[in-house]
Amino acid sequence: MNIAFIGLGNMGAPMAHNLLKAGHRLVVFDVVQTHVDALTSHGAIAATSPKAAAAATELVITMLPSSPHVREVYLSDDGVLAGVAPGVTLVDSSTIDPHTAREVAVAAHKKGNPMADAPVSGGTGGAQAGTLTFMVGATVEIFDSIKPVLAQMGKNIVHCGAAGNGQVAKICNNLLLGISMLGVAEAMNLGVALGMEARVLAGVINTSSGRCWSSDTYNPYPGVIENAPASRDYSGGFGTDLMLKDLGLATEAAKQVKQTVVLGALAQQLYQMSSAQGAGLKDFSSIINLFRKTS
Ligand code: NAD
Repeated sequence: MNIAFIGLGNMGAPMAHNLLKAGHRLVVFDVVQTHVDALTSHGAIAATSPKAAAAATELVITMLPSSPHVREVYLSDDGVLAGVAPGVTLVDSSTIDPHTAREVAVAAHKKGNPMADAPVSGGTGGAQAGTLTFMVGATVEIFDSIKPVLAQMGKNIVHCGAAGNGQVAKICNNLLLGISMLGVAEAMNLGVALGMEARVLAGVINTSSGRCWSSDTYNPYPGVIENAPASRDYSGGFGTDLMLKDLGLATEAAKQVKQTVVLGALAQQLYQMSSAQGAGLKDFSSIINLFRKTS
């Protein structure tokens, strides 16, 4: 299949590599030349703009930082919609706000192009291994048509409902993740301050009602889980600033529908504080250091 892939960063590059490995012909575009070179050296063809990349392809996939980038790449004069042939399906896998996802999908539809939002979870490890979860917002017909290609980059491909609902699923999950990590961080710090050994406490929590992914797979206390970011000074993983971005999307989307998200708003402020104190690029579980006793 002829596929245009736009946005070749930490996630996009390994996803594009998996499509090349699966035998697709890939036309790529990124504003950073070294990101393009890393793909063309493996057989992809470079395009000079999103418009040029989208021309003469059968599917367009984008993996961009945030909403303004998605608007620009799809809607500008040099954008995807200016170059793509009617009928070609467009898939945006960036994490953005549902409102923008729906707006761009409507613009695409008006030009005769079916569009899906398909944000992912699974991080860079999942992107490399081809085990991402895709949360797809689109009609059933669009979902069925793109599922085989998404399955070459991921292992769980979930239909979440109409356009925008992939983003809704993604931001609700990350809202909960941000909050649950804070809860685990608070409980671990308290237990250790009261004299308990961190591993023993985590073991009890993980076989009791406090158990969650933030406690049993990604525990923020150093040394509890060998391969968690907490055990390598919070390097790698999912950055505090990315969590901050997703909590911002969730609280902003909540405002639009006048839905209260008290804990999400508090979590957003705490990750913001952590970022301001220098942990923006560290894994988000480093939030535990915000309330860790230093004596
Ligand atoms: P990144 O910043 O590493 O990559 C984004 C890429 O887009 C960069 O190569 C950048 O040069 C390119 N870009 C920016 N503007 C562009 C434009 N106008 N035209 C073409 N290319 C442009 O980000 P990432 O970590 O790959 O994340 C991409 C998306 O996936 C984000 O929305 C992020 O929230 C989401 N996400 C990231 C992770 C993760 O662990 N990194 C996990 C799940 C979801």
